[in-house]
Amino acid sequence: MPMSASPIPFNRPVPAGREAEHLQACLASGRWCGDGPWTRKAQTMLEASQGFRKALLTPSCTAALEMAALLSGVGPGDEVILPSYTFVSTANAFALRGARLVFADSLATHPNLDAAAVEALVTPRTRVIVAMHYGGTACDMDALERLAERHGLLLVEDAAQCIGARHQGRPLGSIGAFGTFSFHETKNVACGEGGALVVNDPRFDLKAEIVREKGTNRAAFFRGEVDKYGWVDLGSSYLPSEFAAAVLVAQLEELDRINTRRIALWERYREALAPLARAGRIALPELPEGHGHNGHVFYVVTPDLATRTRLMAHLKADGISAVFHYQSLHKSPYFQDHHDGRPLPNSDRFSDCLLRLPLFASLTDEEVDRVVASVTAHLS
Ligand SMILES: *Cc1c(COP(=O)(O)O)cnc(C)c1O
Repeated sequence: MPMSASPIPFNRPVPAGREAEHLQACLASGRWCGDGPWTRKAQTMLEASQGFRKALLTPSCTAALEMAALLSGVGPGDEVILPSYTFVSTANAFALRGARLVFADSLATHPNLDAAAVEALVTPRTRVIVAMHYGGTACDMDALERLAERHGLLLVEDAAQCIGARHQGRPLGSIGAFGTFSFHETKNVACGEGGALVVNDPRFDLKAEIVREKGTNRAAFFRGEVDKYGWVDLGSSYLPSEFAAAVLVAQLEELDRINTRRIALWERYREALAPLARAGRIALPELPEGHGHNGHVFYVVTPDLATRTRLMAHLKADGISAVFHYQSLHKSPYFQDHHDGRPLPNSDRFSDCLLRLPLFASLTDEEVDRVVASVTAHLS
């Protein structure tokens, strides 16, 4: 690394414009708790820009997944099919309800769930399929929708990484009964910690509000639909503060610009690394037919773990922070003794060989070129 080159972090949350202005207005308004004007504004923006039926802000995607699990009504004796290559919260939300987790493998060519593998795991006890769209690239939703319909299963999309991404023109998160989003600082639009539950199946509209408001019908009360409110079902506290919502509004105002920039950086990586892929040194992300990803993650897949470890160290020495991602959940310290023993080799391979390169809205073309040069120097 030339002495003048500054380090390139893996991620940096980038203010989009009016965050400070909105926060000041929120502070001065005297309304700080959840479900105020900033929350409503963020929800309306999500619904209008993405075509969602109903979006409810939550404190995190983890919270939205817990809501989806509560709403699904699963409990002990029920089975939930989900990928092993995903974030802990996808699984933990359903484990909290006492459901049995049945992990499915990834595709050989992509970290996303293999729909054929899911089909083989359906039993009379299966209630829910959770699809996670890695990097904002859609799972085979046509196959998963058909499967869910044929067996009467609830389809949930962990769309944490997917804001603005599409599958054959349909927004990700709008296809299953529920879609869950994250606005954690590592995601395309961020408010520190934050999330949303998108409710696509109208049967859950009322119950989703109740679960989110500590099991009370407070939302209906404020609409004047009931004359007092009380405890009517199970729930918890799933409202973010107005501060988070105010920051999120500023980020959503610039969603298109953020995603356009991220996609341009993503394309720059892919083009510049194509020769290494052609030479068989690495594999690059594959995009399914009709994809409309949002430039959330750019990754390379090395031939083995040792190569990835050396490549990470080489990048680090050049001042570049590249990071691996999930470790197979079926082999996790918490779950390994509950797993049924089926090998999930594709999930394990992505655990060992996938490496994410720096990608955030204020990354420059020159910085991408520096990362590419470093990867190329090490692998050629
Ligand atoms: C980030 C992420 C989550 C968790 O989001 P939080 O908002 O941090 O709770 C869940 N699932 C996936 C796939 C994620 O990428």
